[in-house]
Amino acid sequence: MDPARFPNLHVSQHPLVAHKLALLRDRTTEPKRFRELVRELSWLLGYEAMADLTTRPITVETPLEPMAGVELEPKVGLVPVLRAGLGMVDAMLELMPSAEVWHIGLYRDERSLKPVEYYNKLPDAATVQVCLILDPMLATGGSSSATVDILKAWGAARIKQVSLIAAPEGVATLSAAHPDVGIHVAAVDRALNERGYIVPGLGDAGDRQFGTFAGPSSEPGHDPAGETAEVVRRLQRNLAGEP
Ligand code: URA
Repeated sequence: MDPARFPNLHVSQHPLVAHKLALLRDRTTEPKRFRELVRELSWLLGYEAMADLTTRPITVETPLEPMAGVELEPKVGLVPVLRAGLGMVDAMLELMPSAEVWHIGLYRDERSLKPVEYYNKLPDAATVQVCLILDPMLATGGSSSATVDILKAWGAARIKQVSLIAAPEGVATLSAAHPDVGIHVAAVDRALNERGYIVPGLGDAGDRQFGTFAGPSSEPGHDPAGETAEVVRRLQRNLAGEP
């Protein structure tokens, strides 16, 4: 995939990010270390993703004299995509302790891979200006696009997606639906496979964080009818610009 096709895509070039991502991908990395790495990577990616937040001038009283300083201007909302996005929240709250955390529950239908909303308690009007959608894996882009739809309808002025790994298909889907949404990732991998996993990827980010390796069939790869593979082929045709 040519990243230049997607001006909204920001792939971290930081060596610490690359180092930690390799540890995260390793199949022998246990859930405890995996959670630590998700947190450390989220911190680094969050730092980069917020580099363009606006500030306003304030006066600070040091013990010696007053001086000019700044404070962040926009109110920020964190929107973790359940469940894997939960592991990214604490790091972002360390960076921005006053951020609000809003939960929107979408699950991915196991066959169609389409997002289905099951939880949304957003108040009527937006309480923040900038929203960060947190999802370790930007796979098909379906859940992210649906989350952006919800946040725009709510009134969020700026929205960014922060993910650890993206599939080219997910970047293309989210960028086509919402070209104004910045996508901040540690890496863009080769492709989605026929089971909806990012390859080479790291497996299931939720299972690897929470140790649920014998989980239900709501995760990618449980589709005896083969519909998932057809959805992935359609996304790949979209990415290639084919009808
Ligand atoms: N979700 C994951 O956790 N991993 C993938 O590879 C794709 C979606």
